[in-house]
Amino acid sequence: MQSLWNDAEAAQFTGPLGPRVYTSRLLGRDKSLVLHGGGNTSVKLREKDLFGEERDVLYVKGSGWDLETIEAAGFTPVALDYAQRLAALPALSDPQMVNELATHTLRAGAPAPSIETLLHAILPQQYVDHTHADAVLSISNTPEGEQRIREIYGDQVVVIPYIMAGFDLASFCAREFSRRAGPHTIGMVLLSHGVFSFGADAKESYERMIRLVSMAEDYLVSKEAWSVSPPAADGGRCKREDIAQLRRSVSGTAGFALIVKINDAPKFIAFARHPNVAKLSQQGPATPDHVIRTKPLPMLGRDVAAFVARYREYFKRNAPQAKEKKTMLDPAPRMALDPGFGFAAIGRTAKDAAIVEELYDHTIDVILRAEALGAWQALADKHLFDIEYWDLEQAKLKKTGSAPAFAGEVALVTGAASGIGKACVESFLKRGAAVIGLDRNPAIADLHARADFTGIRCDLTIPKDISAALDEAVRRFGGLDMLVLNAGIFPSSAAIQEISSDAWRSAMTVNVEANLHVMQACYPLLRLAPRGGRVVVIGSRNVSAPGPGAAAYSASKAALNQLARVAALEWAKDGIRVNSIHPDAVYDTALWTDDVLQSRAAAYNMTVEQYRKKNLLKTEVSSKDVAEMAAEMCGPLFAKTTAAQVPVDGGNERVV
Ligand SMILES: [Zn+2]
Repeated sequence: MQSLWNDAEAAQFTGPLGPRVYTSRLLGRDKSLVLHGGGNTSVKLREKDLFGEERDVLYVKGSGWDLETIEAAGFTPVALDYAQRLAALPALSDPQMVNELATHTLRAGAPAPSIETLLHAILPQQYVDHTHADAVLSISNTPEGEQRIREIYGDQVVVIPYIMAGFDLASFCAREFSRRAGPHTIGMVLLSHGVFSFGADAKESYERMIRLVSMAEDYLVSKEAWSVSPPAADGGRCKREDIAQLRRSVSGTAGFALIVKINDAPKFIAFARHPNVAKLSQQGPATPDHVIRTKPLPMLGRDVAAFVARYREYFKRNAPQAKEKKTMLDPAPRMALDPGFGFAAIGRTAKDAAIVEELYDHTIDVILRAEALGAWQALADKHLFDIEYWDLEQAKLKKTGSAPAFAGEVALVTGAASGIGKACVESFLKRGAAVIGLDRNPAIADLHARADFTGIRCDLTIPKDISAALDEAVRRFGGLDMLVLNAGIFPSSAAIQEISSDAWRSAMTVNVEANLHVMQACYPLLRLAPRGGRVVVIGSRNVSAPGPGAAAYSASKAALNQLARVAALEWAKDGIRVNSIHPDAVYDTALWTDDVLQSRAAAYNMTVEQYRKKNLLKTEVSSKDVAEMAAEMCGPLFAKTTAAQVPVDGGNERVV
């Protein structure tokens, strides 16, 4: 492992916390050191208060911040001497500790200080860095782990047995650290948890971390336990309906919709098909705090009922030992390993699932290296239970806070690169859905850079394009709950006697037949939607009030309207609702080029200005107005409505 320290870069981080911010980010940049909020850092500074009195302040990473992107505001100032006195108390519950730290924080609005704050407080050096380095965990999580760690580091580190993070761990270290530390000590290894380094300045502490982790890596190399790439495996083989079925079962077990992200890369497939996968995967995580996101074990295969039974046993076995009464969390898995699809990461949001996936990506490395070293051995499940059912996590359950309307659900929008489709993407994202946007325009791929959006270039007139897009959608999010059929074309105006067969056919192909194909391909997924499938068809005012010169468009939209009505009839038995919106006078869309606007205005003997306002309410209708209606139609307001046709047009006297 290389030090990423760079003098020029470091010089840009100014102010008393500058060096602390810089090296924290350096640690965060290396995913084999810390992942997603894991790890923490601190610095002890002497400051003057308003009265000119000096005091020692511990700036420690606040919760909710990632080391990779942390800023000075992400460090919470805590009264150092008070924190040290807390660590010396004979006993303190974790909720009490959290309260004391919150009330001895020296900046209003600062984030809650890390749960490992007291540990930082009792270490005497000014800078303290803590990571959950993969290499150290690979060595520590073996039957001879402690012995190997001592062999590697000698008196350079203090070795601490596994104790759950919180007051008990800090209290143990407060008593033992100074007794066990020597003149060569530059760090501390917490068995089955992680590693600390410390130093007189930010660079020294950081580079000691790199040194300690490099020593672990070198040790693994020397024992031929470093390169553990599993044998090449061919790709996953699994139908998208099978994944959607899995998502439905898992969501049903959880009691809410969940995103399922598939990873069938060779590494995951090979691990899922490893001859010892049952032994290797059914022990526990690489470091215990993963358990909050991953639960203790992945599900092996697709038998959700068997997983649930095992999870209930784990709860029953461990809950009676806890000091307080525990409430069982939902028993649904957050990870699954299957020889067919490889790995499934499961989460309430696409971001949660992506985090679970990354945690397990590293966990596989840790497991295989530990196994190559001797044998992989995770913590006993009572320790995992203590973390998963920690008081403060349980307290979060009691806080009422409603999830967004579409949390855990997946929406697919066609014609999503611009206009109404683009606005629909935003309306569904805003309500917590993961969204797949399809469009012929390649710009769709870059519409949003976020875990809960996937833009796929797709020509909806080519069925195999649709199928490939759905394969990708299911790999990303696990299924489909909501479908917005928005893509459409508006051929240039022509009187009936002038319509070419090509123009007619292309209106029918894009506006009707392509939608039929999308509906056919999506149906098997929609019927597996955990809360019932929903389809919104973007129709047109022309369905009930066609315009002269727009025969091809009006006829195609009327045909689409009939298709939607029949779908409502046929799919009601599957719990799928199909509703339509008939927008009009929406001019912020790609359809409405200046030419089209002018020719339509002319067809009505109006100026463009008059044409824009030709609705009863004399109001402007925007793409967003239509998109919000589309989203609401998929929500609880329309839960008992199917086959509705709602105009969003400012009122049209020909429709009324
Ligand atoms: Zn830790």
